[in-house]
Amino acid sequence: MSSPRALALHDELRARGERITKARRAVLDVLADTDEHLTTEELLSAVNRAEPDVHRATVYRTVDRLAELGIVEHTHLGHGPAVYHLANDLHQHLVCESCGRITEVPMAILRGVERRLHDEYGFTMSPMHFSIVGRCQRCRDEAEHA
Ligand SMILES: [Zn+2]
Ligand SMILES: [Zn+2]
Ligand SMILES: [Zn+2]
Repeated sequence: MSSPRALALHDELRARGERITKARRAVLDVLADTDEHLTTEELLSAVNRAEPDVHRATVYRTVDRLAELGIVEHTHLGHGPAVYHLANDLHQHLVCESCGRITEVPMAILRGVERRLHDEYGFTMSPMHFSIVGRCQRCRDEAEHA
């Protein structure tokens, strides 16, 4: 059974003349129900737990198509592979280089930088495509007290 959040995305797709295939439903269900950051491989295994007969190539194609439609987005956490999010749940990621902890912060945190890049360089930033890499407070405190 799809969650209300997934059902809202079905409505959005239908309103745009898109079909809700079994693969699309399964991918949206997985993304709507998780707070995890899933790589395509992880997404594939989660989809296959619900729909074992949806093939790898279909899942990959579905994710690409949902990205084209602006329903899902990907980001990179540090050196990691792309991970997927629903586009209506965007946030910026702080990734600690020491312990790997991921902290989610509002997109607005980069708004000033975004505006300056736009106004002064004519550059339109994709603020969530990569994460902000550094050191978290806990690791910094540990380093200071070591
Ligand atoms: Zn990318
Ligand atoms: Zn850390
Ligand atoms: Zn996230």
